[in-house]
This record gives sequence, structure tokens and C-alpha cells, in this order.
Amino acid sequence: MSENEKRRIKIFDTTLRDGEQSPGCSMHINEKLDVAEALEALGVDVIEAGFPAASEGEFKAVKEIAAVVKRATVAALCRCRKEDIDKGWAAVKDAAHPRIHIFLATSPIHLEYKLRIDEDTAIEMIRSHTEYARTLAEDVEFSFEDASRTPREFLAKAARTALEAGASTLNFPDTVGYATPEEMGAMISYIRGNVPGIDRADISVHCHNDLGMATANSLAAAEAGATQIECTVNGIGERAGNAALEEVVMAVRTRGDVFGAETGIDTRLIYRVSQLVSGIVGIKLPPNKAVVGKNAFVHESGIHQHGVLANKATYEIMSPADIGVPENTLFLGKHSGKHAFNELLEEMGYSLTPEQLDAYFPRYKEIADRKKEVTRGDIDALLSGVYRRKVKRIYSLKDYEVTAYKNSASARISLDADGKVHTDRMTGDGPVDAGFKAINSLTGQNFKLVDYQVHSVSEGKDALGEATVKLASPEDGKVMTGKGISTDVLEASLIAYVNATNKLLQEE
Ligand code: MN
Repeated sequence: MSENEKRRIKIFDTTLRDGEQSPGCSMHINEKLDVAEALEALGVDVIEAGFPAASEGEFKAVKEIAAVVKRATVAALCRCRKEDIDKGWAAVKDAAHPRIHIFLATSPIHLEYKLRIDEDTAIEMIRSHTEYARTLAEDVEFSFEDASRTPREFLAKAARTALEAGASTLNFPDTVGYATPEEMGAMISYIRGNVPGIDRADISVHCHNDLGMATANSLAAAEAGATQIECTVNGIGERAGNAALEEVVMAVRTRGDVFGAETGIDTRLIYRVSQLVSGIVGIKLPPNKAVVGKNAFVHESGIHQHGVLANKATYEIMSPADIGVPENTLFLGKHSGKHAFNELLEEMGYSLTPEQLDAYFPRYKEIADRKKEVTRGDIDALLSGVYRRKVKRIYSLKDYEVTAYKNSASARISLDADGKVHTDRMTGDGPVDAGFKAINSLTGQNFKLVDYQVHSVSEGKDALGEATVKLASPEDGKVMTGKGISTDVLEASLIAYVNATNKLLQEE
């Protein structure tokens, strides 16, 4: 490798598997397809689309994702069982680049208490299932679950076994987020030194953030020679989540001097993909979130502001433009016409069909009439669904009237279903409670509210309100997220509730 030739670190995104299976992050199938397309545009090398043996719905989603993704590899996660591998292969085999991803725990605690098998049995399972998977797929990844708590000699033996059986990617997860960066680096170095022929395979890591070290651990492994990092957008995932894609990618890019490596990610799309995923799963990012948080590029103290004005590099190691943060300048008012609206959208990178323009312009005017100034943030919020697949609207909010006094309220709600308007009135502890009860009554459902949040999209007292509602189905506990946007937070809340209801009804 010459000095200026950078090695490539592959980005394996598991937002749709590890992320999606974490609490409250379920996505509708159309949302999964939107995320998969966004990940492909972002330039990830591998998209882990799901765990097909988990359910019929999961199988169907992985199969549909495999059909839309053209450039990236699409991986299906499978337990070390023949029937899982068959199901996984059936789901991804029509992908342009399919991968079977098998996992088996190798740590003593998992072998003894979870799997109740001894080391020899584990080795035999790794060998036979990798060989079986290779009769179906060219591209097989094997993960040694809880690798960071597995004795090194045994881990190397497991790795040799999978490699000899034909796996082309070997993944060493820090499943429980326990390792330190030094330990992760040492583990990868040990594997490289003790698994003959390992250089013909990709060495991967999958780090969890229980102690806040997922990104550092992933990067330490990469420095020690790992060639693939598994991560998720915004770091969503089991418990404290996974290594965050945006952190890993921007660290590799910003500290090219340290890592001597590059990824295939188009970093200018990072912000938009982050917003897409955050919006779909209904999880707001903390303002101080690395790279994509609202304050990540805000300089508040006078000394810092002075420095940045003199030379940005005094306090800025990355520029907002590097990750595609839109400038939130004020720009349009209620007198702006359709032409000005469209010109601005094009400048912001949107390109709407005439039909879309006709659909969104009146909604823009409505906001402009209620607000003095419309910001780029408002436009992004308004258009957040423009390129997304529509979730079928079984119900839509037609009208509402709410009266409230202290801790009691009454709501009259009208919903449109197939062109017919249905109205009901309910009382509750407050206006939102009464409204939500009336919607449940109208749809005949007893969906449970598991989370409800209201945020302002932009600044000022006339800011747009964005409501997020998470509803659970009492039958299977499935949770879906609905969003609503309006200058009136009550209206936004009711729209969000109806949207979550529509998604849950289609999951059944
Ligand atoms: Mn995981």
C-alpha cells in the first residue's frame, strides 16, 4: 500500500435489524424500504435488512428490501440453524448481492447458560452451518456472538473453522458493550496473528454502546486491521444502541491522518438520513449528539464565537456542509408565490413533480398564513414525507372541536374513512386524552399510547409543532409511530394518533 493510498473500511449498516428490533423502533414495511433506499444512496456497503426467521412480516420486508437495493449487499441474519438459513436465503436470494449472516455465541457464559452446548459442539455447528450456507450463497458472514468475552484461543479456533468452511466475513461483536478500545484492538490483532489466511476475509466488528465506547471500540478495531464496521444511523439498537454510523464515518474522514482509511459514504447525505430515521422511529436526537445533534455546530460562548468569526478552524473540526446540514435562514413569507416556493425547493435539493408541487403548495400557504416567516427547517418538516412511500390512509382527520377546563375536557372528532365521515365525542383528563379516546372509539380499537411527544420544528412562538405518537397493539404488543405537523399542537397530536393507528391496522 502506497502512502497516499487509503484502505477502505466497509460500512455494514444494521439500522433495519439491530436498530429496528430495539424498543419502540419498529418500522412499517414502507418505512423500511425508504430507509433501505436512503442507505443505498448514502453509500453503505452492506444493508442488514432483518432477521427473516423472526416472523412472516419480517421475511416479507427483507424480501422487498432485497428487490429494491441494487448496489449494496443485502444481508439476512440467521441463527445457526438450517431452517433459519433456508428462510434467510429465500428472503435475500434475489438481491443483486445477497449475503447470509449466521451467528452463534462463543463465550463460556452463553455456551453454558443460553445454548447449553460445549465448545466442540459449537465448533461443529459453526463448520456445518457455514458449509451449508455456502451451498446456497457465495457471500457468507459468520458472527461469534459475545466475542469480546470469549477466550482468545477458542475464538481463534472458531474463526479458523468458519474461514475454512467458506465464510468470507468474520464478525467479532462486543455484544454487551463491555470491551475497552485497547481490548478490541488487541482481540483483532490476536485474530490476525492466529488465523492463517484471515487476510482473504473481511474482519468485522459490531460494538454496543452500554458504556459509551461503541464508536471508540469500532475505531480501535479498525486501527488494528478490521475492514468492516457494523453500525446504525443515530446509533439506535438494542439497549444503549450500536456504534453510530455518522460518528464512525466522520471520525474516519476527519482523522484521516490517524486512520489512513476511507469509507464509501457520501457524507453530505448523513444529516438527511439521520433526520429520516429519527422521524420514522420517533426518537428525537439529544441536542448534543455527536455529528448530527442540533447543537453540534453551534458556538455559544463569546470567546468561541469570536474565534470562529476570525477563522472557522479555531473551533470547527468539520463543517455543517460536510454532513449536509441545511442553513436555517429565513426566507419566504405569505406573499411568496408558487414560483418562488418551487425555486427555493430546488435550491434546497428537492425536485417535486407538478402534482407534488400542487399538493404541497397549499399546505405551505397554510403554514405561511399562520406564521410570519417560513424557515428551511419548516420546509424540511413539511416535505419530510415527499420522497417516502405512503402508508395507506385508512382514516384521516376531518374535523375536531375540543373544549377543556382544568382537568377535564371533551373532544368531538370527525374521521374520514373511504369518503365517509364518522363523528364521535369523548371526555378525558385533558384535550389530548379526550381526542385520543374519541379516535379509538371511532376506529373500534383499544390501542395503547406508549409514548407521546411534542416538539417545535423551528424557533419562535409561531413555530410549527411536530407531534409524535407511539401506539401499541394490545394483541401482539407491536408498536408503531405516527407523526403530525401543524402550527396547532393539538391538531398535530390528533393527526399523529390517526397516522399511528393507520400503520398498526396494516400490520395485522
Ligand atoms: Mn447487536
